Amino acid sequence: MSAPPLHDWGVAELSRALRERRIGAFEAAGHFLARVAAHAPLGAFLAVDAERTLAEARAADERLARGDGGPLTGVPVAHKDIFVTDFARTGLASTAGSRMLAGYRSPFDATVVARLGPGEPGGPPGAGMVTLGKLNCDEFAMGSANENSAFGPARNPWDTSRVPGGSSGGSAAAVAARLVPGATGTDTGGSIRQPAAFCGITGIKPTYGVCSRYGLIAFASSLDQAGPMARSAEDCALLLSAMSGFDARDSTSAERPPQDFHALMQHPREGATAARPLQGLRIGLPREFFPAALSADVASAVRAALAELEALGATLVDVSLPRTELSIPVYYIIAPAEASSNLSRFDGVKFGHRAAQHADLLDMYKRTRAEGFGAEVKRRIMIGTYVLSHGYYDAYYLQAQKLRRMIADDFRQCFESCDVIAGPVAPTVAWSIGEQGGDPLQAYLADVFTLPASLAGLPGMSVPAGFGAHGMPVGLQLVGRHFDEGTLLHAAHALQQATDWHRRVPGGAT
Ligand code: GLN
Repeated sequence: MSAPPLHDWGVAELSRALRERRIGAFEAAGHFLARVAAHAPLGAFLAVDAERTLAEARAADERLARGDGGPLTGVPVAHKDIFVTDFARTGLASTAGSRMLAGYRSPFDATVVARLGPGEPGGPPGAGMVTLGKLNCDEFAMGSANENSAFGPARNPWDTSRVPGGSSGGSAAAVAARLVPGATGTDTGGSIRQPAAFCGITGIKPTYGVCSRYGLIAFASSLDQAGPMARSAEDCALLLSAMSGFDARDSTSAERPPQDFHALMQHPREGATAARPLQGLRIGLPREFFPAALSADVASAVRAALAELEALGATLVDVSLPRTELSIPVYYIIAPAEASSNLSRFDGVKFGHRAAQHADLLDMYKRTRAEGFGAEVKRRIMIGTYVLSHGYYDAYYLQAQKLRRMIADDFRQCFESCDVIAGPVAPTVAWSIGEQGGDPLQAYLADVFTLPASLAGLPGMSVPAGFGAHGMPVGLQLVGRHFDEGTLLHAAHALQQATDWHRRVPGGAT
């Protein structure tokens, strides 16, 4: 019997094969690079440097031969282009999907990138993963469809006329098409969970503070969080263990000891049996997550996944998150407010693009920002500046902050009667490219199920839950208590041991 093609292997399988020397990192890197090139029309990758990737792979092979590699050494990875990557090391620009940063050469690696790769400067060696390149995303991570990228859309491998979701659309498309076994993403209001759901892969947004934001190009700093995207919960657990942990360079990084999420994922629950691994787990279903307007196909896929969890021993309980709908105005005040402040640094002086023609300094600022930013980014800067301005601050921003606290309190109350909250990730399956016709409100409203956990800083996960309309994937969302990623990964892993939705591959990406 011949071995399955390398790209069918996930992070965990590649890790085993590399350490047992059944394959080499160089061979793996070459195989995935060829796939990336063959699937260029997907628009998933913004930058590759094959030569340097192969050089990294050779170094990984040497490390493995010496026997001092870790579980991820030699496994290929690719990064959402919202993480900066050291240009001198990788040859890869860092653009945030924006014309403003086209060709931008970062002098350093984001902490997440360094930890998965060579390690932080002056620190111990990193995980030694091999960087395949940078992945497409919405401009400054603002969007839900990857249609706001200045470098063109990414496409959904399940149907290339549809969006892959966003803003980590390139990450989701690349993993689903098996161009790379695992990728990084970021989630401010759903950008890991929603594209993972749209592309039928697994993704986890950890608790705010678990992964460092150092070198993550800022959108909304109180919400931005990095996380892994891969095909299975096990793969996500391996990646998250390597990329997370306290970082003195990020003042909001959680000061907690490093965690082995792979061990937590496997750790048996008290009272569990082989047939009922989730015995005793109480899963709360907020009634607001199952509104009448939820698409029937999504509702029935999510219900089927919940029935599987029940069969594995979990108990379903009714809970309520009464301010679910309010998360939309709250998020779309707070996130633009923070964005308007964060993006003021792009002034033609410190970073990136500068208008060639200008009369004076003010004119230079104006032209630079008019040319460098796309429509959605400008819209958010205007909203953000407005809600922070004198006279409106109290009416909008302050009210939104108060509601944010109440939303977090609602979750706290729910977690008194359950251990995990479950529901859909998005109200529908992936829509067609261009279908929203530039109406931003439609996309904002579709964020309703992911925003609450973001505002509360809670960990959230998207797990494949079968298929809905047009044969497109549906995601089950799991939300946990602060720092309880272990329970989410454990439940998702148990589900994936019993079902094969996460193993299905898109027909269009063979
Ligand atoms: N769709 C949301 C937005 O457009 C979330 C984006 C994100 O999580 N980065 O802001």
